[in-house]
Amino acid sequence: MSANILDGKGTAEQIRAEIKEEVAKFVAETKIQPALAVVLVGEDPASQVYVRNKELACEKVGVKSLMYRLPQETPSEELLALIAKLNADNSVHGILVQLPLPKGIDEKKVLDAIDPQKDVDAFHPENVGLLSQGRPRFLPCTPYGIQRLLRRYEIETKGKRVVVVGRSDIVGKPMGLLFLQKGEGGDATVTICHSRTENLPEITRQADILVAAIGKAEFVKADMVKPGAVVVDVGMNRIAKETTDENGEKKLVNKLVGDVDFDAVKEVAGWITPVPGGVGPLTVTMLLLNALNAARLQTAAPK
Ligand code: NDP
Repeated sequence: MSANILDGKGTAEQIRAEIKEEVAKFVAETKIQPALAVVLVGEDPASQVYVRNKELACEKVGVKSLMYRLPQETPSEELLALIAKLNADNSVHGILVQLPLPKGIDEKKVLDAIDPQKDVDAFHPENVGLLSQGRPRFLPCTPYGIQRLLRRYEIETKGKRVVVVGRSDIVGKPMGLLFLQKGEGGDATVTICHSRTENLPEITRQADILVAAIGKAEFVKADMVKPGAVVVDVGMNRIAKETTDENGEKKLVNKLVGDVDFDAVKEVAGWITPVPGGVGPLTVTMLLLNALNAARLQTAAPK
């Protein structure tokens, strides 16, 4: 039997429509338009696409996006000076620095310099600390999107065994923390795995909910998944894949695939996210929500 699809794209569209209404209400009440500053350093093609998508998504819900494109060779001091300027600017509510930064720039130093009240990615240690204590200010976009997706499909997390494969600061660790929170969307029993985990398939097979955030194409195979499990695929990997065209000829095409072997795993899982159209659209959506919440926060308690 084939798994049910967790439609991230459709869910993201619904949430974006809700955010658009909320933004309009906020603007009507405060006469302030939420504004997000997006900083891109260098010419990385994937980052350019991500940033453009974020810009378009902002426009569609009424969040103002302010783009700052800096050359590859920008010195750290210049980037830090821009962040200080944006921190001090009351008309800017959220600041996002697109990662990865060019070699030679200390990523941590840059992210730590963002005012925690404007840290819409929730990477600042203060926001990570608040999340780990169960009183989050902003929720990190990808894990937050996954939590909202599961809630939309009424997938229970309470008391469930959740296994997250990947321990990055951006996805794996905060994902584990979110499932661990008390209350709706949390209350799970969480295991976080990584490249040093022994007997990984044995552990993943115990998961009622399995989240793959590894960065390795089609790594999770069908025999790593418990029948009926919910499988969330965070991975975004570009690979050359062999396909057969309408004339029966085999050819290599460039394809975006996840960390889960979708075709095989969908025959075992109960629910599964596709790639593309799964987690990706939700990540950007949660960024929009964080930008609105940042504007609310700063309007309620101006510095
Ligand atoms: P990282 O490279 O930072 O982390 C990967 C994690 O996977 C690490 O913790 C690593 O372990 C673990 N890992 C690697 N190999 C194995 C293995 N063989 N067995 C078990 N664990 C392993 O990646 P990110 O968390 O930033 O991203 C993960 C994936 O998600 C990528 O494909 C990325 O493109 C995608 N992504 C998608 C987003 C979206 O919106 N859809 C948003 C963010 C990321 P260790 O720590 O030991 O090295």
